[in-house]
Amino acid sequence: MDALRSADLLVKSFAGQLLHEPSRVKTGTGGPYRVYTPFWRALESEGEPDAPLDAPRSLVPPTKWPTSERLDDWNLLPVKPNWASAFSEVWIPGEAAALRRLAAFVENGLSGYKHNRDRPGIDGTSLLSPHLALGEISPARIWHATRGVSDAPAEDVTTFRKEVVWRDFSYHLLFHNPDLPTENLNRKYDDFPWTFDALAFERWTKGMTGYPIVDAGMRQLWRHGYMHNRVRMIAASFLIKDLLIDWRRGEAWFADTLVDADPASNAASWQWVAGSGADASPFFRIFNPITQGEKFDPQGDYIRAFVPELRHMPEKFIHRPFEAPDAVLKAAGVELGSNYPKPIVNHALARGRALAAYNQIKDAA
Ligand SMILES: Cc1cc2nc3c(=O)[nH]c(=O)nc-3n(C[C@H](O)[C@H](O)[C@H](O)COP(=O)(O)OP(=O)(O)OC[C@H]3O[C@@H](n4cnc5c(N)ncnc54)[C@H](O)[C@@H]3O)c2cc1C
Repeated sequence: MDALRSADLLVKSFAGQLLHEPSRVKTGTGGPYRVYTPFWRALESEGEPDAPLDAPRSLVPPTKWPTSERLDDWNLLPVKPNWASAFSEVWIPGEAAALRRLAAFVENGLSGYKHNRDRPGIDGTSLLSPHLALGEISPARIWHATRGVSDAPAEDVTTFRKEVVWRDFSYHLLFHNPDLPTENLNRKYDDFPWTFDALAFERWTKGMTGYPIVDAGMRQLWRHGYMHNRVRMIAASFLIKDLLIDWRRGEAWFADTLVDADPASNAASWQWVAGSGADASPFFRIFNPITQGEKFDPQGDYIRAFVPELRHMPEKFIHRPFEAPDAVLKAAGVELGSNYPKPIVNHALARGRALAAYNQIKDAA
């Protein structure tokens, strides 16, 4: 903006991408927030955010159109290979589709959201993130669509709105820390003893770690350019803590592959999982990929959808195929190390290694 202004151009900024301008929200002492709950409370005390505006009825076209490129000539769609071939199973781009998605969610998904949002095996969330990331719908429109929905319990509406406000919070952090995608917010993590095993990283990106919930998430990401939030946390924790790989490599992979890739939410979330971020989950909270899977995908529906090799595994072993007796594996057509990988790390040992690494920086200032 400064550059444009110094070229003597008139510049105006309009809040539309967020519910609240990040520069305006300040703590009692006039600084930025670093913790989510007080941020939420401050916004809540202001009342409803502004209602969305309808599109203008008409726009005055320029008297002379500038010369322009033809979008088709840019060949933006992937061809060889067409890595987006399955995207249409889930996504329809554009504003009209975003509005339909919002209406369907308010009617069928809002009620029960608080519980269902943690279940990757069911359609429990709005799937609005790509539309938001691409500017096809405004958060204000989403917020106001959840007002006065008579059959949605207040706790579901509040939980959903709080998630939408996490996005604002991420932008608040990015606005005040423009290097959020590359620098640890908590500088003591600058000394964290990361390792890098290229093969392990590749197995993570391909969904071949041998931990079914991680693999299902990474394959959902590759197939649909999306991953369920609960599984994003598990897959990120696995990369950072089980493999001790720097969160920035995971952030970059997500930025490259997510259809909802967002510089603020992605960076803030990776730092949150790593423990280096604002209001972060402490490093020693290390997700166990087996019990997380069993808790949030108890029947293994999510695994069966994205890891077809395990489709016939019984519930009891679907999150821990490496503990299944040979007869069970055989009956399910699973041959570990052949058509489904053995675990690339032992979680219990990896957990101990991660805690030892964390101890090296724990007491630093
Ligand atoms: C490691 C990691 C990386 C992530 N990267 C991104 C990213 O690049 N882009 C992105 O939009 N979200 C990101 N998220 C947040 C979250 O996973 C997605 O916003 C959510 O899964 C989108 O699905 P939905 O629209 O169905 O969400 P819903 O549950 O329906 O939530 C509604 C909206 O709230 C916002 N929201 C929900 N959860 C969060 C959150 N934790 N942080 C910020 N905003 C949130 C999103 O805009 C979402 O569309 C990341 C989370 C993790 C753990």
